Amino acid sequence: MFQSKLFTKSKKESPADELSRNAQLLIRAGYIYKEMAGAYAYLPLGLRVISKIKSIISEEMDAIGGQEILMTALQRKELWEVTDRWNDENVDVWFKSELKGGQKVGLGWSHEEPVSEMMKQYIHSYKDLPLYVYQFQTKFRNELRSKSGILRGREFVMKDMYSYCKDADQHNVFYKSVIDAYINVFNRVGLSDYVYITSASGGAFTEFSHEFQAISEAGEDTIYVDKSKKVAVNDEVYNEKTLKDLGLNEKDLEKVTSIEVGNIFDFGKMKSEQLGLSFTKEDGNSEYVHLGSYGIGVTRLMGTIVELFNDEKGIIWPDSVAPFKVHLIGLNLDNADVLKKVNDAYDKFQKAGIEVLFDDREMSAGGKFADSDLIGVPYRVVVSAKTGDKVEVKRRGESESALVSLDNLISDIK
Ligand code: ATP
Ligand code: MG
Repeated sequence: MFQSKLFTKSKKESPADELSRNAQLLIRAGYIYKEMAGAYAYLPLGLRVISKIKSIISEEMDAIGGQEILMTALQRKELWEVTDRWNDENVDVWFKSELKGGQKVGLGWSHEEPVSEMMKQYIHSYKDLPLYVYQFQTKFRNELRSKSGILRGREFVMKDMYSYCKDADQHNVFYKSVIDAYINVFNRVGLSDYVYITSASGGAFTEFSHEFQAISEAGEDTIYVDKSKKVAVNDEVYNEKTLKDLGLNEKDLEKVTSIEVGNIFDFGKMKSEQLGLSFTKEDGNSEYVHLGSYGIGVTRLMGTIVELFNDEKGIIWPDSVAPFKVHLIGLNLDNADVLKKVNDAYDKFQKAGIEVLFDDREMSAGGKFADSDLIGVPYRVVVSAKTGDKVEVKRRGESESALVSLDNLISDIK
């Protein structure tokens, strides 16, 4: 992509009312646009990061048998009344509206009810189970406070997965595979040193649900981490009994602030009983389906990565989610020889399948470097009158640069 064609321009300032580090940097660098508190638009650079994160999640969900769907955001009041989750006392984040004819509707903040209702058409026999579906969807939540940038949106992208199993045993096998898949996701987006599987309050029939918490001062949660065991306990269930049940020792735990990037939940047969989702067992008797629910906050994950990987100059993307692998910077472009070299370099990167943002603008070197640091692409590659038949490469986040041959660099990156 040619940077001269990119309609977003980096800014020195972010909106005065924007207090969070993630949104400040993302707005300044042109990844997102603030519509209002808790509502952000994703611009070309931002969308590239979102799609990288989604691809990683999709691969991991597909690998454990997930089938992708897309449910509707519009939700019927009557369905959610069945499970007593329409009531504002029970769910305080609904955006509610009504159709022209007067029927009440809400904007989906989660999708257990509609997916389970739909499955009544597709699940009849034990032979139909287990089955797993997932989606990427914009969720709507009328959050009371939304001061953490894209960490807490009133509108945000979630990956939600739902599992339908014939019994607890079948459910437990899948639940474990989701834990592994989630750990893979968080490792692959660069958070292996930060994310801990955390016991938290309530599944419907289990003692704990499991959250995936990333240690960060920008978070709103408090957890107790056992770094050697790689597990944590949420403050909300932290007591002597919990520690005993989990085989943890108070002296091994460190109290930290964290961001909940994922949450997995065992609903047991509760929702299926309420909604009438049953199947015929091997012995001919009828039984209710066992439901599990598994969320990852996609946009929150992007914000978490920014919170954890930045410096005073800007963002430092992990390679796996960066919008481009290479930021190619041409200097002295009025020199025909340099111009040809940098254009050739661009073509070579493209041919090698390496995503490259090419700063082809008429602008000072200092301005280009400052933008490059702000945007945070992993490799900065400079072609100028001084680089001769080599290119100058610097990793974002490191201070040393090196003169290398373009071909060697390309094979290194690949
Ligand atoms: P929180 O405790 O932070 O309000 P939650 O427990 O209500 O979150 P879930 O219903 O478990 O969230 O949603 C699944 C995932 O979606 C969460 O783990 C989180 O990563 C993400 N998420 C939840 N609410 C938001 C939000 N307002 N903005 C962005 N992501 C969110
Ligand atoms: Mg949660």
